[in-house]
Amino acid sequence: MKANSKITRHYFRFLLITLLLLAAGLESYGQQAEKVTELLHLEDNQYFADRDSAYVDPYYGLKKLIYGNKRFAENKSIRPRQTDADLKNNELGQKPFATIIGCADSRVPNEIIFDQGVGDLFITRTAGQVMAEASYGTIEYATEFLNTRLIVVLGHESCGAVQAAMKLPENPPGHIVTLINAIKPASLVAKSHGESEEEAIDIAIRTNVLEQVQLLRGLEPVLSRRFAEGKVLIVGAVYNLKTGVVQFIPETIESLPKFKQGEKAEAKKTEK
Ligand SMILES: [Zn+2]
Repeated sequence: MKANSKITRHYFRFLLITLLLLAAGLESYGQQAEKVTELLHLEDNQYFADRDSAYVDPYYGLKKLIYGNKRFAENKSIRPRQTDADLKNNELGQKPFATIIGCADSRVPNEIIFDQGVGDLFITRTAGQVMAEASYGTIEYATEFLNTRLIVVLGHESCGAVQAAMKLPENPPGHIVTLINAIKPASLVAKSHGESEEEAIDIAIRTNVLEQVQLLRGLEPVLSRRFAEGKVLIVGAVYNLKTGVVQFIPETIESLPKFKQGEKAEAKKTEK
């Protein structure tokens, strides 16, 4: 009996991991996955999204990030809201439309890759976007006090922190052990699924993002409640350093609680 339930548990774990990997979308980079395009009704020839609408409606905020990244990846960046006057205009406070939890990697500057400006993104960055108490407080602050409704966990291809965790070092120096331990579950999943070393690292990067998305969705007391009520969206994405494309993970968009229709903002095709 005991052995049977152990086998069943293993079977379900295997099934869950397989589903997660499929959902993570191992399809090639280069363009936003068809599934995401379909889910968000993205338009081929659209590059701009209104800022105020993005603040009110997190689905629209998500589109705004995708259109901004499309500008960047296609060398059409407009660098909005980045003049000296924008930087010095502090009277109205801040209303960032997205919180980004990203990697500290110097090659992943969030405002540049999403082609956004001053006051748009509330960002917390650590190696491997590993989170601890201070990060949670930072994200909750944006949610509770700035009313930011979109949260994006942003991993990236060639992530040094994930590569280090894949080596499963026995005694990482100093506090680096915190990073390694946090990424270890994803690296163990990847090791048992990746055909080549390169593929295993890609799987670890995506699995790490998926686990971090799940962690935030269940984080008591603020985020779990707000997510369940459909008041914040928490999604995952992976940035490709070679193509400049941020690939949003379809499963993290599919599994969102229904957003209240009445609150959807009217979309405007402007970057103002
Ligand atoms: Zn990294």
